[in-house]
Amino acid sequence: EAPKAKHNYQSDVARLRKIVINSLYSHKDIFIRELISNANDAIEKLRLTSLKDKSIWDGSNPLNITLKLVKPEGDQPGRIIISDTGIGMTPEELTTNLGTLAKSGTSDFLARAENSDATGTGNLIGAFGLGFYSSFLVADRVYVASLPPATAQNPNPVQHVFSSSADDSSFEIYPDPRGNTLGRGTEITLVLKNEDLEYLDADRLTDLINKHSSYSSAFPIYLFTQRTEEVPDEDAIQDAPPADAAEPTPAAEETPESKDEDEATIEEVAEEKAEEKAPPKMKTVVVDEWKHLNEQPPIWMRDPKDVKEEDYNNFYKAFFKEIESPLAWHHFSGDSGSGVSFRAIVFVPGSLDEQYWQQPLASKSKDIKLMVKRVFITSDLGDEGLPKWASWVRVVVDAEDLPLNVSRETLQSTRFLKQVKQVIIKHLIGIFNRLADEEPAKFERFQKNYGSVLKLGAVEDTKNREKLAALTRFHTNHKDSLSLDQYLENKKQGQKQIFYLAEMGREFDDLKKSVFIEKLDARGYEVLLLNEPLDEILVQNIRQWKRVPFQDVAKAGLKFGDEESQKDEKAEMEAAKEKFKPLLDYLKKEAGDKVREVVISNRLVTSPCAIVADQHGYTANVERMMSAQNG
Ligand code: ADP
Ligand code: MG
Repeated sequence: EAPKAKHNYQSDVARLRKIVINSLYSHKDIFIRELISNANDAIEKLRLTSLKDKSIWDGSNPLNITLKLVKPEGDQPGRIIISDTGIGMTPEELTTNLGTLAKSGTSDFLARAENSDATGTGNLIGAFGLGFYSSFLVADRVYVASLPPATAQNPNPVQHVFSSSADDSSFEIYPDPRGNTLGRGTEITLVLKNEDLEYLDADRLTDLINKHSSYSSAFPIYLFTQRTEEVPDEDAIQDAPPADAAEPTPAAEETPESKDEDEATIEEVAEEKAEEKAPPKMKTVVVDEWKHLNEQPPIWMRDPKDVKEEDYNNFYKAFFKEIESPLAWHHFSGDSGSGVSFRAIVFVPGSLDEQYWQQPLASKSKDIKLMVKRVFITSDLGDEGLPKWASWVRVVVDAEDLPLNVSRETLQSTRFLKQVKQVIIKHLIGIFNRLADEEPAKFERFQKNYGSVLKLGAVEDTKNREKLAALTRFHTNHKDSLSLDQYLENKKQGQKQIFYLAEMGREFDDLKKSVFIEKLDARGYEVLLLNEPLDEILVQNIRQWKRVPFQDVAKAGLKFGDEESQKDEKAEMEAAKEKFKPLLDYLKKEAGDKVREVVISNRLVTSPCAIVADQHGYTANVERMMSAQNG
């Protein structure tokens, strides 16, 4: 037998292995995701290399991943064997790839991981990926047998084994004593720790794969299991008399039951009798089973035409752990603009999370599942998380053309995430518009749940302000739901302002009766009734719609636009000013500092007077909010 070359791990690897083994106990499920993702990468590398060099792979033998579960037996330990028909590794590659860490930012990662608690480390893993070393979460010892394809440079590859135990600071590399058994690719044998034998349960492992590598690799994953089954023992049947030897006996025919049973033919009765007499002997056999785990492409990879509404609903609920079906979704493929193509489904949840408005403005989205080639990478878009107004959205994005070995860390720093974020927002707004144009009932439900979110968006997201403000619906003194565009369509000739009345927390019916609306109502003008804090902030932020300014009817500066045709009224006003000057002077003196000015107004019809805010000052409403915020 060839000597086993012993190597010491590079010091960073030793540190990483220690972190993995010591602090990630509660995250150990991830080993399967990491190993499947590596197998997937290895096959993808083979496929890509073969595009240039057909001799490496001519397309004939299959590209797949297989998992074998071996139950412990006698002194044989329980094992999981994961094989792929990918690019494989030479002995040198086994040494460098599995014995050293070449990732950028490794030291930084290690320092952070060593100083954080288990949960913190868990988050770091998502961002960094522990790859191969996660094997040691569940395995005492790992064997990696690998055989690269024959090439011009390496015409006679020899299958080698990498072997290491969880508590070793070294690993061994040696030619596989079994010879070149693999044909091509890599076989990883995890010798399970005693406390981790649960992973040998086929259902448990299937669940894990569906969850983590869900919809998994782009290549088929097969799970090999052995099942025991009771089958008729054919040897035993041979010994028994053949069925046709058992003639119906007269005695049997004469039993009252059989006489009543007209339907039963003599043959059937005969068969029954034969079975009674000679029940076939059963024996236990072991049946091999190959279960295709990712038979269906994941829902987002399918053509939307082939996916039913029910499929989307089920997928959404399972994937995002939701009870309620989504309100709407959009399934599309796209290009990030930097050459990364991807597929995505953007979901609008059935309703807003109850906690939504309690959470701080800075809280970022966490339901964007980012995949690369079907393998889940992260939910954490870092600084590229969606803004508060869109943070409730649920998205699955699967990128196709990211570099094969993109680490989760590099991904965070690429332009890709920034672009993905923009694409998501664009399509989200697209969904809103579709509901508005085509599905009035759903749009109403959407407004009820997300109306305030649109206003927040129009305030917060200056880039999309126009689009979001256009989707916002308002109550008016005429209608229950009106867009700003509709307001302008309905406006009276000569009207130069968009009138609104803002009083936080007041019922619309109360607002309609407000003294500030009397005059406008009498003249047939429409007034937006604003009773949410965000409403007023919104109109003050956008200031105008299609160049028509907003005008608070509770502030001075109201212009009806038909003043010209109201010469009489003007003259009347002048006369009134003259006539009531003594009264105004008296009132001003009495009110003292409490008001800035006492003026004659033509905006009231039945009420004798009103206190209004200064044209350039804050309204009482905003003042209340400001003091609440500062306090
Ligand atoms: P990463 O996948 O992020 O590179 P890993 O620790 O998961 O980090 O894997 C380290 C390296 O080992 C991979 O980059 C690859 O070169 C090699 N490797 C791991 N698994 C396989 C495999 N099944 N087939 C071929 N090479 C592999
Ligand atoms: Mg990996």
